[in-house]
Amino acid sequence: MAASATIGIIGGTGLYSIVDSKEEIEVNTKYGKPSSPITIGKIGDKKVAFIARHGKEHTITPHMVPYRANIAALGDMGVTRILSSNAVGSLNSAYKPGDFVLFDQFVNMTQGRKDTFFDENEVVHVGMADPYCTQMRAVASECARGNKEMVCHDRGTVVVINGPRFSTRAESKLFMSQGFEVINMTQYPEIALAREKKMCYLGIGLVTDYDVGLASIGNIKPVSFDEVKRVFNLGMEKMTALINQAVQRLPDERNCACQSETEV
Ligand SMILES: [Zn+2]
Repeated sequence: MAASATIGIIGGTGLYSIVDSKEEIEVNTKYGKPSSPITIGKIGDKKVAFIARHGKEHTITPHMVPYRANIAALGDMGVTRILSSNAVGSLNSAYKPGDFVLFDQFVNMTQGRKDTFFDENEVVHVGMADPYCTQMRAVASECARGNKEMVCHDRGTVVVINGPRFSTRAESKLFMSQGFEVINMTQYPEIALAREKKMCYLGIGLVTDYDVGLASIGNIKPVSFDEVKRVFNLGMEKMTALINQAVQRLPDERNCACQSETEV
């Protein structure tokens, strides 16, 4: 493959492009086609490869995203670090609509998704104790602190549900009772597959609303659709700025443990 990049960006809802480039390539992998053509461009002096997780026209629902093809396509290009943008619901009143969260843990509640590259001829157990890259989280956190209009939580557990339906009140309250901070439908298996490829992964969440369990509590006002839209549009501008800055500030050398977690 001719095109190469060391940094991959996976855009979620609302982030359909972050690189100003017309170089779009169609690729195929052992696992099929990725969600979208890959845009190759530059942020500062860093070469990046961008994939729209839900497709260019937002037509791919969370449980149908070709996660293995997306990660394999980036891996084939030489990508060793991924930054990803994600919309999340809040399960904790301290995580407010419009806030950002840098995930440090996930809990997988999805079913039936193809979540490994090691399903033939090889027995491999991948360490997943600390799935998110500590070096990338530290850089992103520093960038966020530099923006006074941005509230960014340095950590948060994201519980990943299968979707496309939302949770019941009982499910949402169960997740809250476990101390999980935010909820999403796409972090798994994306993060786990990146780890299998020895990549570093940064998951950034934008809180768009309160999940149904939290919204049932007396003093939390449900967020109106118009408000969600407003928070989301403003948030996406900040998300773009944050990813841009983090990419440029990332030291070239990896000093994290992400690469050493894959053992045969
Ligand atoms: Zn790392």
